[in-house]
Amino acid sequence: MKYDFCILGAGLAGLSLAKELKSISDAKVVVIDPNGIANGASGSPLGLSNPATGRYATKSWRAEESLQACKNNLEEVSSYSSELFYSQSGVIRPAMDSKIARRMQENLESNNWPDDWCEWLSEDEIKTRFPDLQSEYGGVWVSQGITVAIPEYLQALSKYLNSKKIDIFEQLNYELNRISDSWVLDFQSSKKIEAKHLIVTAGIKTQEFDFWKYLPLHAVKGQVAIFEAESEFPYSSAVSALGYFASIDSKTFVAGSTYEHNFVHEQPDENGLTYIEDRMLKVMPEMKGKYRLIKQWSGVRASTPDRKPIVGSHPNIKDCSVFTGLGSKGLLYSSILAKDLARSLINGDTIPDAVSPQRF
Ligand SMILES: Cc1cc2nc3c(=O)[nH]c(=O)nc-3n(C[C@H](O)[C@H](O)[C@H](O)COP(=O)(O)OP(=O)(O)OC[C@H]3O[C@@H](n4cnc5c(N)ncnc54)[C@H](O)[C@@H]3O)c2cc1C
Repeated sequence: MKYDFCILGAGLAGLSLAKELKSISDAKVVVIDPNGIANGASGSPLGLSNPATGRYATKSWRAEESLQACKNNLEEVSSYSSELFYSQSGVIRPAMDSKIARRMQENLESNNWPDDWCEWLSEDEIKTRFPDLQSEYGGVWVSQGITVAIPEYLQALSKYLNSKKIDIFEQLNYELNRISDSWVLDFQSSKKIEAKHLIVTAGIKTQEFDFWKYLPLHAVKGQVAIFEAESEFPYSSAVSALGYFASIDSKTFVAGSTYEHNFVHEQPDENGLTYIEDRMLKVMPEMKGKYRLIKQWSGVRASTPDRKPIVGSHPNIKDCSVFTGLGSKGLLYSSILAKDLARSLINGDTIPDAVSPQRF
């Protein structure tokens, strides 16, 4: 089988790119993932697309464009799932001390936010709108924040891609070779495919490809816990402080996450659970004793020194590109950067220097 583009990795990066390539061309596209859809960091059960990032709710890079692109994709593929997999119910970001409160307020004033995106709430306002939330110092209300069940979103996106005649091959191991001007993938099952252009979207595993080894990707393990609330999760919005706490069906909720830079195994563990619960009860003290653990999950994010993703072509190898380094902003950036990369691959458009692999 011959393809124009072969994408290696079926997470947020790979599937978003396949969608964009198809939307602006009639190229033949295949996505290959030996582990299956959403089997890397994108397996995170619930994530936030939140443009007020970091400890001080700083406006993210290209916030308007990236959030819009994310929303459009969620909306467009929602009819390919019978489940509700996202909710634009906003994010409340209570400040946990006076310094954080001051820096958040400074960012609110200086970050040039679009009207109605963010608003400062005093301690009393938070108490009224979010009873029982720790709010001694006030906090930022981010009306545009979206909560997404990422694996369900990607299952819907893969169905959408199938409807557009994009092949997705899962659970198949392959051997990759460059033969004259083609990339050739040999599967053990004797199947073989050939592609003109290869794009590696394998998250942290991108560094296992010899020709992308030079990229400074850092592995950051993250654990989350899925809890069931005794009655129901008290807020319809997500809460982001000392981690994030969010629900999509009102009774079960996700609490996370850890940021582990030195780890000896990739599985969830007791330490992760303790860390998450301690922090959760600092933010939502009234939850104490009112929930039970359903499941733990962990994944490994690919982070970069400047916290920007890596998108673009290889400096020396023809017809070879990469899309990785999404860190903890996979939802926010996968749609917009997939558009940038697709336009570059199809039309030769320039990708912003800020995310280029050539910056390393
Ligand atoms: C605990 C946790 C919480 C998170 N919370 C959020 C959040 O709230 N908001 C947010 O936006 N993001 C969040 N993220 C991060 C976000 O999920 C990542 O940025 C995003 O999933 C990265 O997507 P990706 O497609 O680049 O990589 P991945 O999702 O890791 O996908 C890479 C894929 O490549 C496949 N692969 C590996 N090797 C190969 C190979 N040799 N050939 C082909 N395929 C291969 C893997 O099986 C995998 O499916 C969280 C991550 C974690 C771990």
